[in-house]
Parts: sequence; structure tokens; C-alpha cells
Amino acid sequence: MPKFYSIALCALLFLLQVLSFNLKANSALLHDIQQLSDEPMAGRKTAQPGAELARQYIRQRFADLGLVALQPDFQHPFDYSIGFVDKQGVNLIATLKGCNSADRYIVMTAHYDHLGTIAGKVYNGADDNASGVATMLALAALLKTQPCPSYSYLFIATDAEESGLHGAKAFVAEPAVPLQQLILNINLDMLSRGERANHLYLYGAHSLPGVTDYLNAGDFSVNLKLRHRGKGLRGQNRLDWANASDHAPFRRAGIPYLFFGVDTHTHYHTPQDDWQNIDPAYLQRMFESLSSIVLWLDKQPPEWYQAARKPR
Ligand SMILES: [Zn+2]
Repeated sequence: MPKFYSIALCALLFLLQVLSFNLKANSALLHDIQQLSDEPMAGRKTAQPGAELARQYIRQRFADLGLVALQPDFQHPFDYSIGFVDKQGVNLIATLKGCNSADRYIVMTAHYDHLGTIAGKVYNGADDNASGVATMLALAALLKTQPCPSYSYLFIATDAEESGLHGAKAFVAEPAVPLQQLILNINLDMLSRGERANHLYLYGAHSLPGVTDYLNAGDFSVNLKLRHRGKGLRGQNRLDWANASDHAPFRRAGIPYLFFGVDTHTHYHTPQDDWQNIDPAYLQRMFESLSSIVLWLDKQPPEWYQAARKPR
């Protein structure tokens, strides 16, 4: 075969491979969201039977993806208290070994708990935060397809986020990997309902100076909205960005972080936060954009992350 044709054929095959991965990732993404926000999960409230069902599902997905457990059954049980009441939660933690800097970890977090049933109504939490967990699983699948991811990864499905970020706090207090080896936290919380203005918000780019330049120069299929101040607007809503979700305990530990999420929407924290309200086209654009950002972050040198670290 002439060289030109063989190059063209290779390029075509590569393109088909990328397209087929995207299609597969997108259908898995929506499927995971559906399953995690399905009726039997009953809103995944911490310590309720629905949360255990969610954990069974996520553990199975971790195992199917070939991710490795650091603790038995991927489970990290922890105690916390609200007022004088002692409570228990369970994080799920899986790891993927890197190739060049295997002793340094990028930690992805996405909380799987939600509000459960309130006044007889089930809060399914499809966007908040079945979407974040499903995206984390799809990103794990993407990283598995890379011949050599530079860094090792921790994928943490956190519990008890809704009542005060307790799962993330418990992980930082007793980390499965020493905190010095954690170079970045990517926190995913509500990723599927940005269809109205095609926005995806990002807080924390200022914790890694090079990210802002890359994102501003990049051509993404969602409109990335960078937020820099601790308190400020997310669309129409005031938000304490610095403490809004599971990146907060990592931020306080001096670890660079990136928090991705959509705007708060009319179904936020209502019984209508259902998968039927998700626009699959937006979901695909969000995932494509996040995939390129995550693969780019994986290729940045360790010194770059080290320089961004804050002393504790
Ligand atoms: Zn949330």
C-alpha cells in the first residue's frame, strides 16, 4: 500500500477508535447515572439501604474497570458526628497505577450520597451527584485506555458530603496514601445540567497557575466559566466556592485542586433531579471537555504541581 494511503488509513482507524470510545463512554455515563438515581437507590442517603445499593454498584464498576482496591472491598468506613450524634459513613476508594511518576497521585472525588426521602418524596439526585460519580468512572475508563498515564490515580466516591463534606474530611484526616504524594484533587459535583447556557464552571484554576492559560487558549465544546474568588456568583446564585464541595478539605491541606460543576438549576435539591431531565448532548460535550483537560493535566511535569502546593 502506498505510504500516503497507509498513513490515511491509520489516521482513520485512530479517529474511529476515538469516536467509538466517546460513544461507549457516553452511553456508559448515562447508564451509570440512571442506575445510581434509580428508585431502589432511594436518593442514596448516608447509612440508609439505598446508599449500600449504590456502594454495591460502584464497587462492581471499579472491579469491572480493573481498578485496584487499597482496602478490603474498596471500602473506607469512617465515623463523624453532627452535633452530639455519632454517625458512620463509607467512602469507596480505587486506584490506578501510573507509569512515569507512579508515587504521585491525582485524586478524583465525587460524592455518591444524596438527600434520600423527605416528606414521602424521593430525591433521586441524578445531577447531584450521580453525574459526578458516573463521570469519574468514565474518566477512569479513559485513563485505562492510555498506554502510559504519567501519574497514579485515586478515585474516591465520597459519602456524607451533603451533611458537611464528612467523607472527604475523613479521607484527608486518614489518607490511604500520604498527603505529600497527592499532587492534585479533581472534584466532580453536578456535571450534567449545564444545557441552558452550555456552561461548565471551574473553581480552583488559580491554585495551579498554568491551567488558566491552557483553558483560555483551549477550544472546548462547553463554555468553561472560571471562578477565582472564594465567594461569588455561579450564574444567578451566590456560592461559597472555596467550601462548596469535597475539594475544601484538600484545599485546606495545601493541595492544588480543581472543582468542576454546573450552575445550580431549578431541579437542584428537589425531587425532580431525575435522569430524564438530562440532555445527553450536553453530557457528551461536558465529558469531551473534561477528558481533554484530564489528559492534559496528566502530561504536566511533577515540578509544576509541586510549585503550586501551599505550605500547611
Ligand atoms: Zn453535590
